[in-house]
Amino acid sequence: MHCPFCGAEDTKVIDSRLVTGGDQVRRRRECLTCGDRFTTFEVAELVMPRIIKRDGSREPFNEDKLRAGLQRALEKRPVSVEAIEASINQIKHELRSQGDREVTARQLGEQVMAVLRGLDAVAYVRFASVYRDFQDVSEFQEEIERLAREPETAPSRGRD
Ligand SMILES: [Zn+2]
Repeated sequence: MHCPFCGAEDTKVIDSRLVTGGDQVRRRRECLTCGDRFTTFEVAELVMPRIIKRDGSREPFNEDKLRAGLQRALEKRPVSVEAIEASINQIKHELRSQGDREVTARQLGEQVMAVLRGLDAVAYVRFASVYRDFQDVSEFQEEIERLAREPETAPSRGRD
């Protein structure tokens, strides 16, 4: 890479280390022409798809918004911050691995529900009730019953 000071083409890496838990590589370089040193950071390019909202408008994927939604659903539930972060990473990973440039808010919502379902049944129902915009109590009840009928995918936390 070119030297930012003199523009020379040859620079040499004199130190290379992983930073931010291994998500970045920090490289210390030295210019072979002027001898100045500089630092570069290398990160994997992770392009998140844009989200197509219900009204057809697009917005960038917003991790904070996703986190806020999960936290709201998981309020006062016995789920650790680590588990929430792992879920966010899982959702992001799935979004990226699909390779689409745009996904609908609906697809994203379904993915969030799938993750929540494995995490905490109460949070799942909470999120689903807001997300699916249940019109009345019976619809809500149906969802809970549907959950109860599919014990193989429900979290194994015993009966309580
Ligand atoms: Zn230089």
